[in-house]
Amino acid sequence: MTLQRTTTTAEIHTTHSAPAGAERTSSHLSSTTIFEERESVIRSYCRSFPALFTTAKGARICDADGRTWIDFLAGAGALNYGHNHDALKAALIAYIESDGVSHALDLHTEAKAAFLTAFTERVLEPRGLDYKVQFTGPTGTNAVEVALKIARKATGRTGIFAFMGGYHGHSLGSLAITANKEHRAAAGTALDAATFLPFPGGPTDGLDTLGYLRTILADGHSGIETPAGIIVETVQAEGGVNVAPIEWLQELRAICDEYGIVFIVDEIQTGCGRTGPFFSFERAGIVPDVVTVSKSISGYGLPMAITLLKPELDLWKPAEHTGTFRGNSLAFVTATAALELFDEARLSEKVAADATLVAARLRADIASLDPRLEIRGIGLIWGVDTAGIDPTGALAKRIGARCFDEGLIIERTGRNDTVLKLLPPLTIDSDTLLDGIGILAAATQSCLS
Ligand code: PMP
Repeated sequence: MTLQRTTTTAEIHTTHSAPAGAERTSSHLSSTTIFEERESVIRSYCRSFPALFTTAKGARICDADGRTWIDFLAGAGALNYGHNHDALKAALIAYIESDGVSHALDLHTEAKAAFLTAFTERVLEPRGLDYKVQFTGPTGTNAVEVALKIARKATGRTGIFAFMGGYHGHSLGSLAITANKEHRAAAGTALDAATFLPFPGGPTDGLDTLGYLRTILADGHSGIETPAGIIVETVQAEGGVNVAPIEWLQELRAICDEYGIVFIVDEIQTGCGRTGPFFSFERAGIVPDVVTVSKSISGYGLPMAITLLKPELDLWKPAEHTGTFRGNSLAFVTATAALELFDEARLSEKVAADATLVAARLRADIASLDPRLEIRGIGLIWGVDTAGIDPTGALAKRIGARCFDEGLIIERTGRNDTVLKLLPPLTIDSDTLLDGIGILAAATQSCLS
C-alpha cells in the first residue's frame, strides 16, 4: 500500500495535497447546505467535523476545498487499515470486474467460502480457537442481538449483566445493555432484563465489582436472578477508553464458568488488532463463549458483522434468526484480503510498537501540561481525559474543535464527552501519528491557557 509521505503539522494546513479526484466535486455541491435542509437532525459526527469530504487515503481525509486532515476517528474503528488501502481496493475491484455475486442472502458463494477459510486458517486455528461463525445483519448491533438471543436460548434465562459506561449498540436488545442515559431515553419503551455493574477503570474504578457479582450470584436473597449472559468490552471505547485489568477479566471468565453464564466479549471496536492482538481478549489468555465482531472486519469500511459461537452454543434452528444483508460478498472479499494483510504487515507487532510511542508522547507532551489530565489506553486506542479540569466536556469540545481547525479529526467520548479518543488507522506511519499527537498537544495547550 502507499502510505502518505511524512507531512509536518505546518504543511498539513498550508498544502492542499488532495488525492486525485478531490476536484471532481463541482462548486454547487461543495457546501453542506443540503444536509442542513434535507437530512434528519439526528446527524452527529458531522457536527464536530463540518466539511464536505470527498476523498481519503490511508490516515488522511480531504474535503471539497482540498483541505486535508489526519484521521484519528477512522470510522469509529471501522477503518483499522486506513482509507482505501491499495491491497483491499485491488481485491474489491477485481471481484466487481469479474461480475462476482454481490448480494447473496446466505447462499453459498465463493467469496464467503474464501472468507471462512481465511478466518479459520489465519485467525481461529493459530489461536487454538473453535467457533462457529454466524453472519448477522451488517452492523455491530446485529451481532450483539444474536449474542444476547443465543445466551438466553442456551440457558433458558433472560437477564444480562453489563457494565456501567458500556456501549453495545442502539437496537432495543443492545440498547438495553448500553449505559448512556440519553441513548437509552430515545428507546421510547421499556429496556429491561439488564443489570449494570461498575467497570474497573473510568469513574467507577476502585469498586469491588467482582465481589459484588459473587455476592449477587451466591445470595439466594440478592433479588437478582442469575443471568443468561455477561457482556463486556475488554476496553470500554465509547465509555471513555477504560482498560479492564487482565486478572479482572480472568476472574470474570471464571465466575461465568462457575455459574453456567454465557460469557460474551464485545470485540466490535477493540477487535481486528486495535489493541495489538487480533482479539483484545487474547491479552488475558481467556476464551469467551460468544464474541461479537464488526467495524474493521471487512477492512474497507464495508458493512459486515459476525457473531462467533462456541460450537455447543450453535443451537439455532435454520432461519430462526435471519436477515437480508447477511451475504455482502464485497465485504467478504475485502475481509479476506484484510486478514492476509493483518498477518503480512505484522500489524500486531506494529501496534505494540506504536503503543509505546503514543504512550510516551501523550505523557510527555499532554499529561505534562496539567496534572489533572489523565491518559489511558492500550494498543492504538488512547484517551486524553479532561474531566479532572472540566467535567462538563466544554474543554474537550474546544480542544476537539481546535484540532479540526489545525488538521486533525479526533472524536470525543466518555461521560459528558470529556475524553479525546485517539483511534488512528493501525497502518498509520509513525511520522503521521506523531504529527497528529502534535496537533492534539498544541490544541490542548492553547485551550488550557
Ligand atoms: N459495540 C461496541 C463496543 C461499539 O463500539 C459499537 C459501535 N460504536 C457497537 C457495539 C455498535 O455497532 P454499530 O454502530 O455498528 O451498530
